[in-house]
Amino acid sequence: MSDAPSATAAPSSESLELIRRFAEAYAKRTDTYFCSDPGVTAVVLEGLARHKEQLGAALCPCRHYEDKQAEAEQAFWNCPCVPMRERKECHCMLFLTEDNPFRGEQQSISLEEIKTHTEPPAA
Ligand code: SF4
Repeated sequence: MSDAPSATAAPSSESLELIRRFAEAYAKRTDTYFCSDPGVTAVVLEGLARHKEQLGAALCPCRHYEDKQAEAEQAFWNCPCVPMRERKECHCMLFLTEDNPFRGEQQSISLEEIKTHTEPPAA
């Protein structure tokens, strides 16, 4: 069952950058692509960075958990999760295989682009 990332304080630029670099390297290594809608990629990366800060592990942000800390310790849904590692299945649409109709052409995204899609507009 899916769930949106929880709405709490935004992760730091350092955390976002670490996750961004991991995702770019992992997409290249696995021949997968980011979504054609960069807003999807940005929101997932922000959720992963937030979990890394809160839980010490990049727990998948697209699921609902009864106990996030316990899930992070169990590691099944820590990114890249077991379904991704075993079958290239990413239900967050962060890593999409070549035949996926939602995939874009990119295996990279800038920090600025992530922030553009995830930061609330200035008041
Ligand atoms: Fe979530 Fe798995 Fe995709 Fe990472 S690879 S974003 S953990 S579904």
